[in-house]
Amino acid sequence: MKSSNLGYPRIGENREWKKALEAFWAGAIDEASLVQQMEQIRHQNLLRQQEKGVELIPVGDFTYYDHMLDMAVMFGMVPKRYEYEGGPVSLTTYFAMARGSKEAVASEMTKWFNTNYHYIVPEFGERQPVITENKPLQAYLEAKEKLGIIGKPVIVGPYTFVKLSKGYEKNEFECVMDQLVPLYIDVLRELELHGVEWVQIDEPAFVLDVSEHDRAIIKRIYAQIGEALPHLQCMLQTYFEAVDWYKELVSLPVKGIGLDFVHGAKRNLANLKTNGFPADKILAAGIIDGRNIWRASIEEKWELVKELSEIVPLEKLWLQPSSSLLHVPVSVEGEGDLPEEVVPALAFADEKLGEVQLLVQGIRYGKYVISKEIAQNEADLLKVALSPARNRQEVKKALRQLAAENPERSVPYLERREIQQKMWKLPLLPTTTIGSFPQTSEVRQARQQFKKGNWTVEQYDAFIQAQIKEWIDIQEELGLDVLVHGEFERTDMVEYFGEKLDGFLFTKNGWVQSYGSRCVKPPIIYGDVEFVAPMTVKESVYAKSLTEKPMKGMLTGPATILNWSFPRVDVSRQEVCDQIALALRKEVEALEEAGILMIQVDEPALREGLPLKKEEQAAYLEWAVRAFRLATSTVAPRTQIHTHMCYCEFHDFMDVISELDADVISIETSRSHGELVSVFETSTYDKGIGLGVYDIHSPRIPAVSEMEDMVARGVQVLPPGQFWINPDCGLKTRGRDETVQSLRNMVAATKAIRSRL
Ligand code: GLN
Ligand code: ZN
Repeated sequence: MKSSNLGYPRIGENREWKKALEAFWAGAIDEASLVQQMEQIRHQNLLRQQEKGVELIPVGDFTYYDHMLDMAVMFGMVPKRYEYEGGPVSLTTYFAMARGSKEAVASEMTKWFNTNYHYIVPEFGERQPVITENKPLQAYLEAKEKLGIIGKPVIVGPYTFVKLSKGYEKNEFECVMDQLVPLYIDVLRELELHGVEWVQIDEPAFVLDVSEHDRAIIKRIYAQIGEALPHLQCMLQTYFEAVDWYKELVSLPVKGIGLDFVHGAKRNLANLKTNGFPADKILAAGIIDGRNIWRASIEEKWELVKELSEIVPLEKLWLQPSSSLLHVPVSVEGEGDLPEEVVPALAFADEKLGEVQLLVQGIRYGKYVISKEIAQNEADLLKVALSPARNRQEVKKALRQLAAENPERSVPYLERREIQQKMWKLPLLPTTTIGSFPQTSEVRQARQQFKKGNWTVEQYDAFIQAQIKEWIDIQEELGLDVLVHGEFERTDMVEYFGEKLDGFLFTKNGWVQSYGSRCVKPPIIYGDVEFVAPMTVKESVYAKSLTEKPMKGMLTGPATILNWSFPRVDVSRQEVCDQIALALRKEVEALEEAGILMIQVDEPALREGLPLKKEEQAAYLEWAVRAFRLATSTVAPRTQIHTHMCYCEFHDFMDVISELDADVISIETSRSHGELVSVFETSTYDKGIGLGVYDIHSPRIPAVSEMEDMVARGVQVLPPGQFWINPDCGLKTRGRDETVQSLRNMVAATKAIRSRL
C-alpha cells in the first residue's frame, strides 16, 4: 500500500504566492525574482508533503495562476488577440490571458466543477494546438534534480480539458479531441523516456453526465494512448463524485483508477463491491475529504479501508485525499486562538496528509501502532460533538417545528404588488443600487483602527454614520428612487453575518485560492446557528432617518452564507441552511419592526450549491429555495422583499427564481444582454426584475445611450412596470468618482426611457 496526494495548495503558508504575484504585477519585483520566489514556494510545498510521509507526491500541479491555463499554454492555445509568435509562452502573455492587458481582454473564467475555485477557460479554434513546452516534465525534473523527490506528474486529461474549453461546436468535439490526443501522447512519451514512474491524469469530468457517445470517444482515445505507451503507468484520476459508468471506466487500458470515496462514496463503493476491481490495476482511494476542513474519524476511515481491501489487495491500493488539497487552507498550525475544543477537530491540507499517513502506518505495521492516535482522535471528535455550541436546544426545537411549516407570504404576489404600489408610489422603472458603496482606503483603515482597539466603538460608529450620511446625500442628489445605507460596516457579505451570529468561527490564516491571486477565508460553521441580536437594524434605521425616500435594508441569504462557508458535516447541509434561515428571519422581522419595509436578501451563491449530479439538483433547489422563503415570508404584504444574484446562468433558472417569491430580483444584464431578452421571452416570471445595466467589475463609465439600449430591449419583451434599474452588483470595489458618474448616467438613461414610455 502507498500513500499518495493529488495536489497541494499553491498559495504558501502565509500567502507568499499571492504576495509575490501581486508585487510582480504592481512592478515592485522583476520577473527573475518572481520566478525565484515561485520556485521557493514550490519547493517548500514539495518538501512539506515529503515530511508528511506522502510517497506519491504530485508535481506540476503548482502554477503561476491556474492549472487549466497552464495546459492551454502548454498546447500553445494563445488566442490571436494576444501577441504571440509561437514557442514557449512568455510570462507577459500568460498573465495577459489570465487578467487582460491594455490591448486585449482577459480570457473567460468560470467555476471549477462545484468548488469555489475558478479556472481560465481555454479557447480552441484560434490556433492549431502544438506543444510549446513539456510543463509536467519540467516539474518532474526540477523536483528530482533539486530535491531528490521522485514526483508524480499531474496533467488534466484530454476529455476534461476539451469538455471545459470553448471555441468549438458540439459536433466538433471528437475532432478537437483527435487533434489533441497525439500531443498528449508526445507529452506522456517524453515523461516515460525520462523515467517517470507514475503519471496522474485528472479526469474529473468523468463524474458528470457522460453520454454514450462520449464514452465511446473516451474508450477510443485511452486505447490510443495505451497503445502508444504500453509501459507508462497512468493513474486515471476522478474526483468530486462517483462515476456512473464504472465497468467501462475500470476496463480502460490504464494502470490505475482513482476514485472518490468521500463525495459519491456510496455509489463508488457499491460499484466496486458489485463489479469487483481488475486485478492488474491499482486503486487510488480518495478516503480523506479534500474539500472540508474537519478531521476525519480515523476509526471510520479504518473500516472503509478494510472494506476496500476486501476487494482490492493491499499491495494494489493507494490511500489519498479525495481530491486536490487546493480547496482547503494549508495548515491548522497558528490557529491557536480558536476555542480549545475546535482546534483538534480541524484538518487543513497538512493535517489531512497526516491522516492518510496515519492510516498507512496502521495498515502496514498493525492497528495497535496507531491505537493511541485513534483514541485521541475519538476523544477529540466526541468533545466537539458534545460541545454546547453544537447542542443549542432552542435551535433544535425550532427546527423540529419547522418540519410542518410551509413558508409562504400571507398574500400572493399580484395582490402584494397592488398594496406595495399604493404604498410606495414609485415612478416607472425605479432606480436603486445593490447595496454597497465604495469601500475606500479610508473605510478600510477605520475598520483596522477599530479592530486593533485604537478606536472606541463610539468613534467607529460615528465614522460609519458619517459615511452613510455622505452617501445618502449623494444618492439624493443623483435622484435615485430607492436608497441604501452603503454597507460600510461590512468587510464581506458573509463574514459580517457570521461574526454576529452564534455558530460561526473565523480562522486567522484559513485562506483558500478562489481565482488567480485572489484568496478567500471562508468562515467555519461550527455549531448550531443562532440569532443573537439585530445585525443591520442600527445602520438601516440611521440611514432612513436622513431621507424621505424609501430605504432598502440589506442581508445575505441562507444559501449564500452556507455555500461560501465551510459547514460542519455532522448534520446535513439542508439543516445548516435551515438554521441560518431561521436566524435571518429574526433579522428580517427586526428590520420590519424598525420600519425598514424594503428588505433585500442577496443570494448570489444560490446556484453555486447545485450538486454535480443532475438527479440530485432538484432536491437541493427545493431546500435552498425553501430556506429563502423561511427567512423572508413572515413579513406583512406591504413589506417588499428584494433579492439579488449576479453572474448566474439565468436561462434555465427563472422558475427557481420565481419560486423564491421575492417581490423583486436584481440580476446581471450588462454582460449578456442578448441572452437576457430570450430568457424573459421564454419564462412566465411575473415579478419585479432589476436590470443590472452596467458592469461594476470594470472601471469604465457606461454611456447613457448604452444603458438606454439595454432598458429599451427589456421593455420590448416585458411590461415596463416589471422593471427596476440598477448596476449589476454592489459597488464596494469601485472608486467614488466613477461610481457617482456611472450612477448619474444610469439615472439619465432611465429618465430618457421614462419620457418615451
Ligand atoms: N449587497 C451586496 C453588495 O452590494 C451584494 C454583493 C454580491 O452580490 N456579491 O455588495
Ligand atoms: Zn452581486
